Amino acid sequence: MRKPIIAGNWKMYKTVDEAKRFAEEVKERIPSAEAIDSVICVPAIALDSLVKEAAGTDLKIGAQTMHWEKEGAYTGEISPSQLNALGVEYVIIGHSERRAMFGETDETVNKKVKAAIRHSLHPIVCVGESIEVRKGGQTTAVVRSEIEKAFHGLGEEEASRIVVAYEPIWAIGTGESATPEDADNVCETIRNVLSELYSETTANSIRIQYGGSVNEKNIDSILAMPHIDGALVGGASLDPESFLNLLGAVK
Ligand code: 13P
Repeated sequence: MRKPIIAGNWKMYKTVDEAKRFAEEVKERIPSAEAIDSVICVPAIALDSLVKEAAGTDLKIGAQTMHWEKEGAYTGEISPSQLNALGVEYVIIGHSERRAMFGETDETVNKKVKAAIRHSLHPIVCVGESIEVRKGGQTTAVVRSEIEKAFHGLGEEEASRIVVAYEPIWAIGTGESATPEDADNVCETIRNVLSELYSETTANSIRIQYGGSVNEKNIDSILAMPHIDGALVGGASLDPESFLNLLGAVK
């Protein structure tokens, strides 16, 4: 059985003080990590404070991107070993905003996934189609290609440590979530691609989240779908009560 995973992606929101206040408010009310993985992926400036704030609780902290090299002349970047040193456990890789605005490609996604695994971080790998791709009937082809390239060169054990987030670009921040059935169909396709690449056991162990305008109202119907193991949530993860309610939706 796959353990559900709900992750907040705060994007470029909250100062360090605001982030600390959020963690103080929620940390004792996070459901047991035996039942669900509860993660917030916060701006890099807040990682240190939040790892300390969340220590000893069931709240896990993630970064929103990283470089693939351990160190070097990469102005502005953060390395996997720097994340390790802070005690960060998760890292989002290949979010569509980074692909669209910051030059992330399938090749850099693959390098980052490999680096994350080398450094014992849990990568949350984002894939998803644009509205043009969807209208052109190419969703399956695009998502298949993104999955194949992200997992390129990874063995069974490495692959099983990855979380996939299916985030249709047209559903992000628009208030227009995919229908649960549509989201589930693409997540099923993703698992089928994974079972072509890996054994049934490995393919069945990889968790697949849906992301894109998930909120307290629609999360129940999304999590009820058989191929969806959790959610990656932007806007609705910024408010403490809303975040706790999203976690509470896992039955
Ligand atoms: P919203 O939940 O704000 O649509 O953002 C989704 C997202 O991009 C999470 O990574």
